[in-house]
Amino acid sequence: MTGTLYVVATPIGNLDDFSARARDTLARVAVIAAEDTRTSRKLLPARADAVQWIALHDHNESRTVERLLGLLREGRDIALVSDAGTPLISDPGYRLVRAVRAAGITVRPIPGACALIAALSVAGLATDRFWFEGFLPPRHAARRTRLTALADVDGTLGFYVPARDLPAVLGDAVASLGGEREAVVARELTKVFETVLDGTLDDLAARVSDDADQQRGEAVLLIAGRASEAASTRLDCALLARELAAELPPARAARVLTRVTGMARREAFAMVEQAR
Ligand code: SAM
Repeated sequence: MTGTLYVVATPIGNLDDFSARARDTLARVAVIAAEDTRTSRKLLPARADAVQWIALHDHNESRTVERLLGLLREGRDIALVSDAGTPLISDPGYRLVRAVRAAGITVRPIPGACALIAALSVAGLATDRFWFEGFLPPRHAARRTRLTALADVDGTLGFYVPARDLPAVLGDAVASLGGEREAVVARELTKVFETVLDGTLDDLAARVSDDADQQRGEAVLLIAGRASEAASTRLDCALLARELAAELPPARAARVLTRVTGMARREAFAMVEQAR
């Protein structure tokens, strides 16, 4: 009999989010593969010395997979955990799961906290479709290029951002996507200083830059996707621009037009000017 690989989610802050099933699984398995074994030992202090710990991180995943496969073939059950949240979600484990499945060995999820899903659940942005990008490149130019490539995605965009990088990332998002899109910064979720800020990208860039507290800890940045192609072609943009221009001052009319159609701000201004 081969063993089973359990992919076990752990809390992203609040330890009460450690599920009974996750605790039971970690208490039962012979081996725990962990991103950082010192961090994960704290999850089961009473049994930490009774388990075989194996470090599995981005730098050793390929060679550690063979060792873990060997243990599974000997019949040992293994749990995979990461430092926080759900393994494989911007965390190591993909190569292991792939290899274990390819070997015909059972992989079972023990689901739980995930920062992206927690953020989406409280953001109030569309969740019917979303694009998870994980971490953006660290340098401005590469980050802007990547953000620009996502400008046409028709679904909420999700990013993992260390909070100290929020001012720079929000600045690049404004430059690449325009300042008008709705966005949410969900920071320190499930922890003591949890905050969820919403507003346009312009608003959030200003608020976060002015508040050092918003630059501490960990954050998820969510940005509304571009209005869908179908929606914007269904709308008669010129007619909408005329109606808005008749009712509102030009700048407000253009802002509403941008929001409703997803068109570029400059294009909306031009259309409103033409309609007046
Ligand atoms: N696997 C994890 C998960 O399921 O969410 C994510 C691991 S990734 C290496 C770490 C990133 O997740 C952080 O930089 C931050 O962007 C986000 N994150 C983790 N915990 C968070 C929290 N409590 N609040 C907000 N974001 C968090």
